[in-house]
Amino acid sequence: MERNHYDVVIVGSGAGGGTLFHKLAVAGKNVLLLERGGYVPREKDNWSAKAVNVEAKYNTKETWFDRAGKPLHPHTNYFVGGNTKFYGAALFRLRKEDFGEVRHHGGISPAWPIGYDDMEPYYLAAEHLYEVRGERGGDPTEPQASGDYKYPKVPHEPRIAKLGADLTKLGLRPFHVPLGVRLDTGDPRSKCIRCATCDGFPCLVWAKSDAQTMCVDPALLHPNATLVTDALVERLETDATGRRVTKVHVTRNGVPEVYSGDLVVVSAGAINSAALLLRSASDRHPNGLANRSDTVGRHYMGHLNSVVLAISPDANPTVFQKTLAINDFYKANGEWEYPMGHISFVGKMDAVTLSAGAPKLVPGMTLDLMARHSLDFWLTSEDLPDPDNRVTLDRDGNVVLAYTPNNEEGHKRLQAKLKSLLRKIDGMEHFVPRELFVGQRIPLAGVAHQNGTIRFGNDPESSALDPSCKAWELDNLYVVDGSFFPSSAAVNPALTIMANALRVGDHMLERMS
Ligand SMILES: Cc1cc2nc3c(=O)[nH]c(=O)nc-3n(C[C@H](O)[C@H](O)[C@H](O)COP(=O)(O)OP(=O)(O)OC[C@H]3O[C@@H](n4cnc5c(N)ncnc54)[C@H](O)[C@@H]3O)c2cc1C
Ligand code: SF4
Repeated sequence: MERNHYDVVIVGSGAGGGTLFHKLAVAGKNVLLLERGGYVPREKDNWSAKAVNVEAKYNTKETWFDRAGKPLHPHTNYFVGGNTKFYGAALFRLRKEDFGEVRHHGGISPAWPIGYDDMEPYYLAAEHLYEVRGERGGDPTEPQASGDYKYPKVPHEPRIAKLGADLTKLGLRPFHVPLGVRLDTGDPRSKCIRCATCDGFPCLVWAKSDAQTMCVDPALLHPNATLVTDALVERLETDATGRRVTKVHVTRNGVPEVYSGDLVVVSAGAINSAALLLRSASDRHPNGLANRSDTVGRHYMGHLNSVVLAISPDANPTVFQKTLAINDFYKANGEWEYPMGHISFVGKMDAVTLSAGAPKLVPGMTLDLMARHSLDFWLTSEDLPDPDNRVTLDRDGNVVLAYTPNNEEGHKRLQAKLKSLLRKIDGMEHFVPRELFVGQRIPLAGVAHQNGTIRFGNDPESSALDPSCKAWELDNLYVVDGSFFPSSAAVNPALTIMANALRVGDHMLERMS
């Protein structure tokens, strides 16, 4: 066998690629993981708000462009473990209904080619693999689960517990967020120390359940698993029939290298995976690899997200506030005939982080005082797959991201709903009443929840991947990152990407046996 030939070559080590790497390594396959970045350096700056949020030390320095040709600096990270090194580790299942067609104010959210029941066993396996801490039964929209979490929920700190009690009095059903932080409260050996620099930061003590610590590193204990870092995959080449990827072209420290695999998996993140397939155009695939349907790069989704700071009269000394969420407005209900979305928290804001976003100052308050009193909500609503929201390449090969938000009415209503609820809570209504809230929509560069650009489906005319996430037009090419989503739902995407990687892994193992 050639030295650079493997059973499976995977491009990208994030939620999708890292999880699949682990699955195949444990099953004894000769598997290669190609990652363009290296390990996140372990240094004090991992937990510095200035380094992370103001200087964007760990973000890629690449420049992408928007539809109008304006440069943008994407908030994305190229390291072993991908964006899971930086994520907030809120690990939600999609709702059962998200797999079907859902009517939104802005249009139809399309059905997936598989149902919730097909994904359920893999959700459970992913929750166990990533050691998710959670509690079944609290979330009013939660789908059926075939097993429990292995670890108990992360408890609220007092200010968040009080907010939960206040919301419950108003008739809501707030619940505990399922989290991938390895916190064992009361145990002096707990890996996680419950710090304030988790969401958006790499974990200095490797206690966050990210793809590097939970999957890539354990996989590397198997002699049949190989990781090559600093390996930028430039292009995939096929044989003369165009049906098989035969060469994976890499640049490593400026030097070209070539690898090959019986199976090749692209998992570079929804934007870079689409860009890689488009860059791999050839005579046999003139519109880009696996793109006869002209869907590669299209239907980019990233959620409608905003941060809402509610300045409360009570100080908020919470260290780790991302423990509470509200799904009462996730589905159409008696109040409105369409879904609005999901409410949770971001990591606790401090004055340094607020200075990076430069919010409107509440009169009479410094950034520091605002940060000490703010409850920092994160609102997510579903954006719909529009073919004109897309990734393309410019003449120099740079990524162009064209995106016009849609389905915004639900998000506006969700913001208004949260504000009206908080105004009803005792004490909140009299505190700086006109400027109680500071809201900010996440800009285009905020590509944290990118998905949808290489959709799977039942019809090769309107999707690039079949239901097993294999490219319709190729016999040995798969995609397992967030690209495969045909709709974005309104909860965080990572657990679904991990679960799907396990599902596709089973399919690949069956095929290889
Ligand atoms: C600040 C932040 C907070 C978040 N919080 C949450 C959360 O709480 N819950 C949640 O569910 N999700 C969260 N997310 C989103 C979550 O991290 C992503 O959905 C998930 O990591 C996407 O997985 P992926 O496999 O699609 O891609 P990624 O994890 O981005 O992995 C892609 C990998 O491919 C590599 N790569 C790219 N191009 C190439 C190439 N050409 N050659 C070789 N390698 C390449 C990249 O370096 C990267 O390692 C957050 C994201 C961010 C940035
Ligand atoms: S110690 Fe815990 S809270 Fe802090 S970054 Fe690590 S996982 Fe997150």
